Amino acid sequence: MRLKDKKAAVTGAARGIGRAIALKLAREGADVIVADINLEGVQKVAEEIKNMGRKAVDLKVDVSIKEEAEKIINTAKDELGRLDILVNNAGINRDAMLHKMSDEDWEKVLAVDLTGVFFCTRAAAKLMRDQGYGRIINISSASWMGNIGQANYSAAKAGVVGFSKTAARELARKGITVNVICPGFIDTEMTRAVPDKVRAKIMEKIPMGEVGKPEDVANAVAFLASDEARYITGAIIDVGGGMVL
Ligand code: NAP
Repeated sequence: MRLKDKKAAVTGAARGIGRAIALKLAREGADVIVADINLEGVQKVAEEIKNMGRKAVDLKVDVSIKEEAEKIINTAKDELGRLDILVNNAGINRDAMLHKMSDEDWEKVLAVDLTGVFFCTRAAAKLMRDQGYGRIINISSASWMGNIGQANYSAAKAGVVGFSKTAARELARKGITVNVICPGFIDTEMTRAVPDKVRAKIMEKIPMGEVGKPEDVANAVAFLASDEARYITGAIIDVGGGMVL
């Protein structure tokens, strides 16, 4: 119970890594706002959290729309009284080689994976500054260093790293830490869609030789959200079995 009575919000919490994060934070004692574009999914996750004896609020939001992103933070304040932990996890990919990438695929990925992080973090920063406390954890990707077919996704995820390191500096004296987790290849619906040939190539790049579990990422988030990580800010933690793309 490292997060007893903490108030948290997780985006993209309907499934995959976000769901695992929300459940882990609740298991550690937090009440959680579970936000996702998929309402039915977050309603189920909220039920699971309530069954653990914690509070949960499900929200249908598109994080790339400013007012909806801000609703997450406002709901935390109104329904839970404060927001201690924000996990920016919502993300999409629209892979294509650069010469074939459409404007729409570029803009959509940047809007969700980078601008969405900005909208949520800016709103949270205002509240957390007043509180004098906060833990912000942003989910980037091993792809931030560059990956063939992912110019849009790599740009957004590298943006998340630069953004987080800047926010960490700005908020460091306000009791707020900002850190980044870079998952490698984790077993979720996002990666199950990867064609077998590409999957085989990715597996060659994982020294530990196995695909990660959403819980592997959730465990790292719980640590960064806890007081054990009080002196860690602006850090990038890879959760990828040693994977280098
Ligand atoms: P996932 O299974 O696709 O789940 C992502 C969730 O986010 C879905 O429920 C999705 O809803 C939701 N979402 C999409 N767009 C949204 C929006 N605009 N606003 C709010 N919610 C939105 O993905 P995942 O594999 O769990 O990935 C979670 C995060 O980890 C992402 O940021 C991803 O880039 C990152 N990551 C994943 C891996 C991996 O190997 N899986 C590796 C590196 C980084 P819909 O289903 O309705 O679209």
